Amino acid sequence: MDTDFDLIVLGAGSGGLAAAKRAASYGFRVAVVEGDRVGGTCVIRGCVPKKLLVYGSLYSEYIENASNFGVDFKDWSINSAILLSNIREEVDRLNALHINLLKNAGVELIQGWGKFVNPHTILVLSSDREKPLMEIKAKRILIAVGGRPIRPSIPGSELGLVSDDMFIQKKFPQKFVVVGGGFIACEFASILNGLGVKVTQLVRGKHLLRGFDRELSDELQKDMQMKGIEILFNQNPVEIKGKIGDLNIISNVNDHISCEAVLFAIGREPFLEGLDLPAAGVQSVDMRIIVDKNLTTNIPHIFAVGDVTDRFKLTPVAIDQGRAFADTLFGNKPRDVNYKLIPTAVFSQPEIATVGLTEEEAISLYGEKIVKVFRARFRSMSKALTQSQQKCLLKLIVDTKTDKIIGCHMIGEHAAEIIQMASIAITMGAKKSDFDKTMALHPTISEEFVTMV
Ligand code: NDP
Repeated sequence: MDTDFDLIVLGAGSGGLAAAKRAASYGFRVAVVEGDRVGGTCVIRGCVPKKLLVYGSLYSEYIENASNFGVDFKDWSINSAILLSNIREEVDRLNALHINLLKNAGVELIQGWGKFVNPHTILVLSSDREKPLMEIKAKRILIAVGGRPIRPSIPGSELGLVSDDMFIQKKFPQKFVVVGGGFIACEFASILNGLGVKVTQLVRGKHLLRGFDRELSDELQKDMQMKGIEILFNQNPVEIKGKIGDLNIISNVNDHISCEAVLFAIGREPFLEGLDLPAAGVQSVDMRIIVDKNLTTNIPHIFAVGDVTDRFKLTPVAIDQGRAFADTLFGNKPRDVNYKLIPTAVFSQPEIATVGLTEEEAISLYGEKIVKVFRARFRSMSKALTQSQQKCLLKLIVDTKTDKIIGCHMIGEHAAEIIQMASIAITMGAKKSDFDKTMALHPTISEEFVTMV
């Protein structure tokens, strides 16, 4: 193999794959170095298998309510082993698909862990990082190695799981403690609860989902509790005792919680291990690689995209950064990534999705007199024949000086799908009057967004 490349990409996750394929499409010689499975967090141990778990976990509620719609299920049961095994098969299919896509794009895939030797040279190590496999060189290098879940430094934390581990479980045990109040904690607490697992969630603050619109996170809290999840606020573990399958979690208020497994979902950090950034002179601050608006590190021919930069830790951002990097440097089509109005969703049950400013942020930026909040809170028609008291909440935050919509938030079924479409209008600068003159589509949940007074 010729070991001189135009571009070496470290990491075959969402950002790295997007950049490598795009750069190769402009006729350049590109190598991707990956020590783990091709696909990265999103495909292998994140968004994709998580969403499949969400789909699986939703069935129990449908089945429980089915008799109200004249459908009878007898003797049904949940088998998480089947669900997890089927998900792994789908992940294997996607992993093979991504390997093929790289091949078809003409990108050289080099399996092993990359380590800087100097600013233009990468040493590729074997999967156990023990054996040097080869040295490769490039004019430009892109660091796209992503992030890893954080494990707390408390006694016994090695007995706990992190999100990566959830997808390699044979089956889920029956009593789980989930630590954290963010994206991953709320999603897994909901998934496990839907799969019939008894869940206790420990949240160190007073609310779920810090940074989200407070009214929505309070609504989510109520719904998760209504569904049977025990949420303990102002609590975090200080020690884990016992053995896997029979654990005792000791919290800061000296509560002792017994469970079979504990999931730490307390954030993610860049995966810089083994890269030897100093060998290339690349600076990192607080464990993250600092880049300018062109995604360039302090070394002009070394770049970084995605979670390794520890900003906007979301797949679509990493993909667009990878493509923008390749368009700018290899396609002679310079462009910036649009970081304004990034929509996000939490696939909890119910789902939360959001774009723009929260009510709290809008008021602190524009002042209470300028901001007008429109809201609709209602029980959706899908719940009408059931006992469920779950409500949808839709909010529009408007700057009354310009009439522009500066925030759009929703909790309820299909929230993510609805907010994705609303974010197009809001990115285009939609005003409240534009929403008002849009004809409603009836009967839907999202029609409330165009009928709010
Ligand atoms: P988050 O930052 O969303 O949440 C971390 C949670 O853990 C917070 O509630 C935080 O509390 C708490 N916490 C932090 N440190 C400790 C500690 N030492 N002890 C107890 N609690 C602690 O991180 P996640 O791990 O949930 O997700 C990581 C990132 O992955 C997200 O930021 C998101 O960008 C991405 N992601 C996106 C998803 C999506 O788009 N649907 C799904 C999953 C992940 P506090 O609020 O007080 O700091």
